[in-house]
Amino acid sequence: MTSEDFRRLWELQVTDCAIADRRTIIASADDGSSAAEQLVADEAALAELEEQLHHKQAHQRKLELDMKGVEDERKEKSDRAYGGMVSDPKELASLEKKINELERNVHRHEDMILELLDEIEELEDRTNAQRGKTESQRAKHARIVESFEETTAKARKEIAELRAVREELVPQLPPQLVRAYEDGRRREQGIAVSVVRGGCCSECHLAIPRVRMPMVQRGGEIVKCENCRRILVVVKE
Ligand SMILES: [Zn+2]
Repeated sequence: MTSEDFRRLWELQVTDCAIADRRTIIASADDGSSAAEQLVADEAALAELEEQLHHKQAHQRKLELDMKGVEDERKEKSDRAYGGMVSDPKELASLEKKINELERNVHRHEDMILELLDEIEELEDRTNAQRGKTESQRAKHARIVESFEETTAKARKEIAELRAVREELVPQLPPQLVRAYEDGRRREQGIAVSVVRGGCCSECHLAIPRVRMPMVQRGGEIVKCENCRRILVVVKE
């Protein structure tokens, strides 16, 4: 083993860490599923309001039609009563009573229609607000999905490039060094190599006994940190 092997080993760890970082980016990127759930809820609320609105508008048209029928009947009875064709006072009195009833019925319809118009107006406002909310949620969802695709595509491309670097590095390393590295990675949450900085292990900050430093610098054999068991390397940074 040479110091060049340990320099490459350090490069391998930097590459593996970069791959792990990209994997974390992919795993933690928002894929828009919670925004999609909110969008479905917004769309359902909008559909519900639109249905209520159509229902009330249909009711309004029905009341208007009914009122026209009552008005027509009142007009027909008025024409008869005051057209000089009815001479019997009893019949006239009965007609007038009926006309008054129809008059009240027209007013009742007018009141119902006015009340309904208020309700429709209020419902239209709520429907428009919900439509705006739904549209902005739709745009938000689209933005998240687009950003997710961009982020993950970039990370996947970088992983492919980093893997190529890795595949080039590994065959250049002594197999026993690769084995020690892989064992260490499993044991130490992916960090198997530690750079010596200022005479200390950069991972656990333990001072490396001076007597061991020449061995680390020469790179003739694997020297591990006595505390965290990581493979020590010296690199020019
Ligand atoms: Zn250490």
